[in-house]
Amino acid sequence: MTKKCRSGDEKFGVIVCTDCRNSKAVDLTHKTSRCHRCGKKLILKKMKVYYRTNSREEASWAIGRLNAEMSGGELPEKEEERVEDPYVRASKEAGIADDERERLGIICRVLDESIGHFTLEDVKKVYSLLGREDPDDMEKKLRDLKEIYEPREGVFRVA
Ligand SMILES: [Zn+2]
Repeated sequence: MTKKCRSGDEKFGVIVCTDCRNSKAVDLTHKTSRCHRCGKKLILKKMKVYYRTNSREEASWAIGRLNAEMSGGELPEKEEERVEDPYVRASKEAGIADDERERLGIICRVLDESIGHFTLEDVKKVYSLLGREDPDDMEKKLRDLKEIYEPREGVFRVA
């Protein structure tokens, strides 16, 4: 059997100061509490208690939640991971290139931005997504691009 807490059993409550809207946790066994921010004396039985709990940690969690609700109207959603595959992104952006040199340059820039450093294999992957043969002497063409440098053998970056 789960013990159901009656409202009023909990030790801590989260209230919002009527003057400055600062939220705080209070000990509900006390009659009054003073707002940390504006100093207003708060009569607890007159206050709306937004959250009741016996755990101090839970009370501070509730304060954060309440602050978020009041500042934004909505709780902040966990930011959705919307990381596009770097090879797909590179192939999309390179689609607008007019010539081989430009295409290679765009691919390198996107790969550098998304994955940091890249290898010939990475560039070849993008070419296959583009549905193109990778250019002859790709390695040479890559090294010929003036913005490209090679911090390690076979590893490229865009300056
Ligand atoms: Zn206040």
